[in-house]
Amino acid sequence: MERLTADSPVRALPGVGDARSAAFARMGVHTLRDLVYHLPRAYENRGRVRLLKDGLDGTPSSFLLTVATEPRSAQIRRSMSVVRFRAFDDSGSVEVVFFNQNYVCDIFHVGSCFRFYGTLRARRGTPQLVSPAYEPVLPDRPLPAFVPRYPLSENLSGRIVEKTVAAALRALLPSLQDFLPEEIRRRLGFPTLSYALLSVHAPADEQSLSRALRRLVFDELFCFSLGMGLSRSRRAGSFSFPCPPCDPAPLLQKLPYRLTRAQERVFSEIRDDMRGGDRPPMSRILVGDVGSGKTVCAALAIYCAAIAGGQSVLMVPTEILARQHFADLSPLLASLGLRTGLLLGACTKKEKERICSETAEGKLDLLIGTHALLNDKLHFPRLCLIVTDEQHRFGVRQRALLREKESAAHLLVMSATPIPRTLALTLYGDLDISRLDEMPPGRQRVDTYVVNESYRERLNRFIRRQVEEGGQVYVVCPAIEEEEERGNEPEENGEELKLDRLDLLTEREERPPLKAATVYAAQLQKEVFPDLHVDFLHGKMKSAEKEAVMQRFVEGHTDILVSTTVIEVGVNVPRASLMIVENAERFGLSQLHQLRGRVGRGTRKSYCVLVSDAHGEAARARLEVMRTTYDGYAIAERDLEQRGPGDFFSSSCDSGLRQSGGMSLHLLRLCSDTSLMESAAREARALLASDPGLQDPQHTPLRSEVDRLFRIKESTLS
Ligand code: ADP
Ligand code: MG
Repeated sequence: MERLTADSPVRALPGVGDARSAAFARMGVHTLRDLVYHLPRAYENRGRVRLLKDGLDGTPSSFLLTVATEPRSAQIRRSMSVVRFRAFDDSGSVEVVFFNQNYVCDIFHVGSCFRFYGTLRARRGTPQLVSPAYEPVLPDRPLPAFVPRYPLSENLSGRIVEKTVAAALRALLPSLQDFLPEEIRRRLGFPTLSYALLSVHAPADEQSLSRALRRLVFDELFCFSLGMGLSRSRRAGSFSFPCPPCDPAPLLQKLPYRLTRAQERVFSEIRDDMRGGDRPPMSRILVGDVGSGKTVCAALAIYCAAIAGGQSVLMVPTEILARQHFADLSPLLASLGLRTGLLLGACTKKEKERICSETAEGKLDLLIGTHALLNDKLHFPRLCLIVTDEQHRFGVRQRALLREKESAAHLLVMSATPIPRTLALTLYGDLDISRLDEMPPGRQRVDTYVVNESYRERLNRFIRRQVEEGGQVYVVCPAIEEEEERGNEPEENGEELKLDRLDLLTEREERPPLKAATVYAAQLQKEVFPDLHVDFLHGKMKSAEKEAVMQRFVEGHTDILVSTTVIEVGVNVPRASLMIVENAERFGLSQLHQLRGRVGRGTRKSYCVLVSDAHGEAARARLEVMRTTYDGYAIAERDLEQRGPGDFFSSSCDSGLRQSGGMSLHLLRLCSDTSLMESAAREARALLASDPGLQDPQHTPLRSEVDRLFRIKESTLS
């Protein structure tokens, strides 16, 4: 047989045919490497065995039981049979029941001993175990304490996934090369890669599982940081557009306000970066909470570029945002003698041609548009500065591409997600970070309330009052797509070891039914507000449609906009005064904070109402944070603590990277340990300081691991 390698397809394993390999492919598992990195999403803790007499509290538990009676099968309905037998331990006995599984009659024999795992319930006074998991207890083979539960897809049972993963491990481990430098591994006390992979699929105990996970999470963070560092060092020797430090006074004089200290600091960082010449171009991310005044920082950078004779582009994710920026910036810049253009998909061909030629002739100092700006046949003779707003739509990969295309231009990325410092260092390791950590004075606070269904009528009256007083209302529902995630939910409530923090999940949060935006909008319009203008917006609409809906809201034609989180991206509607979030328990704190930032942008007193029927304590505590905290950074820190970095990550990196399989960044989601993040970033920096391009032959395996993570071909990397 052909030798199997990490890149061999899943199919190459004995016993895996077309159907099975297709089912794995649907989960993004294509190769043996993907298989061994297909980690359990949870573990059942079957190690703590309880006595029957203690087990009636409704939590799934393990019981060591001896079979007392021969299993008896009975047909209870045409399509349903039931097998019953009794089993006992030292404390009592129980009836064990299986439905439609007659074959178990051949498994359970009087006198044999099994470990059962399930929820003990009393039926008509007798304790019962219905369809428990079971494993025979054999004298010389101890049973594992933790049983992995894998993310499944249709047509793949847990058993099959487990067996296939085990086969991949057997095939790969003997010749597996550990890419982590031995010195680092030992110093930080990590297990070997083989041990980590084995343990994560079949942990001997909680401690080895936790060590294994730490190692794998570290790997991912470390490789990611290395990739970021490599990308940074590739720029080190390059030239950039020179902008001698400019005097911002002419622009500042046009503003109706004074810069905050934070804005002044950020501007001086930017100005310093843009000095250029034989220094690498600026690569900076400007992180600032909604409303912290990022736009004027960008305007100052654009002004400096123009003074130096350079052109700027401002890229935004939607046409509405492009229009808003154009409306804000073009008069300001025009008053300084600078010309701004706006390029939209909606422009006529003639307009587009005009803008293209004006750009090519250097008549425009700033061109605003969506990312189509970069794909078009646009030619900038003196491109100096690229600004992207709401950067989460432009990921790491796009940044790399941008860099290739416009290597001398400065890059300023603006993000409205207040992201915790450690996380920012990891995710934006290729960028310098500026923070606007101070709000302009006089900002009003958006009063926040947490309510449940019983407030519905009062809430509807409140909506009406807001509209009557001239306000506009957002109602945000969780994405319709979310309902489809259910396939990955644990099938039963249980005492499980969740991957992320290795805590035992004691309280499973119950999930109230979801409100779907479209249905809810129709209902509101018909049943509650027939006389008002209700509109809806969701992610599956075509972007022209979305823009049209949003435009109607911006122009004030719509009173109530029911939407999924697509409105999150920085649209400014000064009349919007009420934000209602349905199923608020489903959202991350930072996301809720972003949503809240959509209101209170004008002079109108504004409110945010979080509606949730979840009773779980964790959900309650999370929403309570929103009610009492208004500082985006504090909220972000809490979010990181409570939910791990997944939420930030999914909104901050491009999906191409996330979905690349194998060593993609999915592990990062599982790590809420910021010290691990810090040490990965630190080790990566130290290693690159001693071997800047990872050229040392000793680091070849590491280098290929990094390259695989970024999936950028060797040629573009060096
Ligand atoms: P964001 O960071 O969300 O992009 P903007 O740049 O849109 O925020 O600024 C929000 C509002 O605050 C704008 O109306 C802007 O004019 C105003 N603003 C910005 N800086 C200041 C300041 N230093 N003092 C007062 N108002 C400011
Ligand atoms: Mg903005």
